[in-house]
Amino acid sequence: MADPAQHPIGPGVPGRHPGRRRRIVLSETALTITLFLTVILGLIQNPRLLESEALVTGLLVHLVVLGACLATPWSAVPVRAALIIPLLDFVALGFIRSGAGESLSGVGLLAAFPVVWLAASRIPIAGAVGTAFVGSVSLVWVPLLLTEDNLSLRNFVQPFLLPIMLTGLAVFVAALTSDRRNQQEALWASQAALRASNEAGSKRERLLSTVLETVDVGVLAVDADGHDILMNARQRSVHAASAPPGNDDPNEAQLLVYGPDRETLLPPDERPVRRAVLGEGLTAEQVWLGGGRNQRSLSVSSRSMIDEDGAVAGTVISFMDVTDLALALQAKDDFLSNVSHEFRTPLTSILGYLELTLEGGGSLPPAVHGYLEVARRNALRLEQLVEDLLAINAGTFKVQRELCDVGRILSEAVSSVQVKAARAGVDVVNAAPPELMAVADPGRLAQAVDNLISNAVKYNRRGGTITLAAAVENGCLRLEVTDTGIGIDSADLSQVFDRFFRSPSVRTSTVPGVGLGLLITKTIVIEHDGTISVTSEPGVGSTFTIRFPQDSRAIAEILKDSKAAASL
Ligand code: ADP
Repeated sequence: MADPAQHPIGPGVPGRHPGRRRRIVLSETALTITLFLTVILGLIQNPRLLESEALVTGLLVHLVVLGACLATPWSAVPVRAALIIPLLDFVALGFIRSGAGESLSGVGLLAAFPVVWLAASRIPIAGAVGTAFVGSVSLVWVPLLLTEDNLSLRNFVQPFLLPIMLTGLAVFVAALTSDRRNQQEALWASQAALRASNEAGSKRERLLSTVLETVDVGVLAVDADGHDILMNARQRSVHAASAPPGNDDPNEAQLLVYGPDRETLLPPDERPVRRAVLGEGLTAEQVWLGGGRNQRSLSVSSRSMIDEDGAVAGTVISFMDVTDLALALQAKDDFLSNVSHEFRTPLTSILGYLELTLEGGGSLPPAVHGYLEVARRNALRLEQLVEDLLAINAGTFKVQRELCDVGRILSEAVSSVQVKAARAGVDVVNAAPPELMAVADPGRLAQAVDNLISNAVKYNRRGGTITLAAAVENGCLRLEVTDTGIGIDSADLSQVFDRFFRSPSVRTSTVPGVGLGLLITKTIVIEHDGTISVTSEPGVGSTFTIRFPQDSRAIAEILKDSKAAASL
């Protein structure tokens, strides 16, 4: 690839044109040889030619110029300084032409050398042509002015053909070289852009590979056909660790990839890499890789690479080792489950004795009876919480659906929270219809609604309001609990249904809670095949919305059954 810095007509910076000296000396030598051949021819015709002082002066001037060309360290001289050479050539040729007169015909034509030099130089066309014109006119007129005494217009016009020809030649050469130079410069520019883009490309590549080898995340890139195109060191070690014993080079389908229970091998089609290659976008999908004590939990995410035409060019898959986190969560679950189990036996005993005492409690003073009632109610709540936790942990949380009056469930929930709400200075408005039939587990639905209303009271302010709304519409039961309380920060919204989550502001407050109410509510909703969502604005309030799908045929079936039962 040519380097523009090596071009002879580059910018006027010394030292950047290594071939310049050779070109200058060659150009000048060409003139020297032609000039001396012309003089030799002239001498053959007129041996007394060298008697002319002007001619000898011209020849000497030219030899001095040639010597200067040879002696000058051109690499240390600005490019445009070399233009002094063709100008001095005009002077030398002027002397020679005036000295030789008619005996050296055509010597003026040698001015074509400096003219071409100027025209092909990097100076603007007008400057080059103008200088060539002035130089060639001087060539013919200066000797006239110096030698002729009786000058007439004819004397000036007669030799004018030479300057006209030389100027024409200058225009021709300048146009030709400027065209070529433009093309050359465009070529250099595109070559420079290409080189810059290549350099930027390889710099990016080096940066990318350093980043890939530095990050603590496994990265795998596959092409559109699923063939590996890139795998970083981290991923190579994960790949090796998940190989079955005795197989050092397993393919993707042979790797030991387990589901959440850490024991069931995932079928090839359900493996994250396979699904990602087929175009599925994965987000933090958890799998277990490898067996035994070295088993690792990985969170897998993927994104497709799209080319300029919008077609899928491949997929990038990332593997983050979340073993420590998964084990910590597992330990938390185990702890919770153990503690819940330990609570169960003493609670059953407490409840049994409380019930025994209350049943035979005719002799108890009314105040003591009341205290024991409160203790029994709270022990029952605790028992329900323990049962729910155990059921959620064991995945055995079940609901029993039946046709029930949601309107009644809501009004009962409102009456039981009234005292607490009044104490907190919060107004509860029940905007739901008094009777609203839907299919749900009445006990669980009441539990979910209680949780939401209880939160709406807890996280409210004195003078605040809670509004309940419910409707069966578009094949769906919709329940809404809206409060004008403290609201939830947008950053916390996605976590409020997580186990033990309490927003930072609540955690430092005196509001009681453990962060399980919404988890249980969500579990109830999921068991009903429903959805729960929340919208909230800090300082303004929150709205929790539950939706249970209502299959109209199932409702009709249940209605028919309950009517038949009533008529028996
Ligand atoms: P708890 O109330 O025992 O802390 P929950 O699971 O019921 O646990 O709620 C989890 C967290 O969600 C609460 O600690 C609180 O930060 C936030 N939250 C729930 N309901 C509301 C509400 N109505 N307004 C503001 N924050 C709420």
